[in-house]
Amino acid sequence: MARGGRTATRRGDGWACDHGAQYFTARDAQFRAEVERWRAAGAAAPWPARIAVFDPDGRRNASGDEQRFVGTPRMTAPGRLLAEGLELRAQTTVNSLRRDAGGWRLASAEHGLLDEMFHGVLLAVPAPQAEPLLRPVAPALATLAAQARMHGCWALMLRFAAPLALDFDAAFVNHGPLRWIARDRAKPGRTGLETWTLHASAEWSEAQLEEAPERVAGLLIDAFIALGGSAPQGWAAHRWRYAITDSALAGGCAWHADQRLGVCGDWANGGRVEGAWSSGRALAGHVLDHLATPR
Ligand code: NAD
Repeated sequence: MARGGRTATRRGDGWACDHGAQYFTARDAQFRAEVERWRAAGAAAPWPARIAVFDPDGRRNASGDEQRFVGTPRMTAPGRLLAEGLELRAQTTVNSLRRDAGGWRLASAEHGLLDEMFHGVLLAVPAPQAEPLLRPVAPALATLAAQARMHGCWALMLRFAAPLALDFDAAFVNHGPLRWIARDRAKPGRTGLETWTLHASAEWSEAQLEEAPERVAGLLIDAFIALGGSAPQGWAAHRWRYAITDSALAGGCAWHADQRLGVCGDWANGGRVEGAWSSGRALAGHVLDHLATPR
């Protein structure tokens, strides 16, 4: 069980860097209201970034007036806020679900069969991880999860002794191995060494999925230098195995009331932070309706 998923931050000696979701937008009224709640709690803030676009035929500034937000002081903050008051058990890799007469039993890689009996199970994990859990107990849901195609994303975190003299905070890159680069220190509330996050494209990441991190880092740093960046004083790599999703689930979640079993996640709802939140909220709505239904 984890908290926040890809709204993740890596921290080292004197540095930190968001290496998963880089920011989020808020288009739906309900999600905008939720982001206001996060802002009021100090867990999120607008990020008025200077964003460049590197197209194959040259550089331009990003168009539009899209308002982007980040977690403050790091991307994990909204997840922490949402988890306040919940009893969470980390380091517990659930690897099988069993339905007994009295409810659900879970087994984990670390602790074997857990003692407790659970009334219901909601899976908020990447589709390829949900699929094997669902297969023995709910084949139809497993087949739905199997239809979502999730692609990998190599992320590289670079740290520098001094700020880079680049005239943008982030860039969409529409050619070569990179798709996104961002100066983490340009986001609100960040302190410490100058760090940059590089995200490789889905196609490139899939092709290099089994490559050694050293080779991946070398190639991505070369591409960063070609965009005006510099060689870092240190780096850390992270391979997101399940980052980008191709297909959506109608309704943004699935709930089987008879089994009290549900699935949600960004993969079920467009692949963005807002989609993940709305998917979880939709599933929670099904559970509340179920609890309110007299039986
Ligand atoms: P967004 O920043 O994509 O907002 C949309 C606007 O941003 C567009 O109207 C356009 O003006 C600009 N834009 C987006 N991509 C561009 C590009 N390649 N070139 C030029 N301009 C571009 O916000 P969103 O819709 O909330 O999406 C969030 C972002 O997160 C997306 O860019 C998405 O691809 C990315 N994402 C990345 C991963 C990953 O693992 N790397 C996973 C999920 C989502």
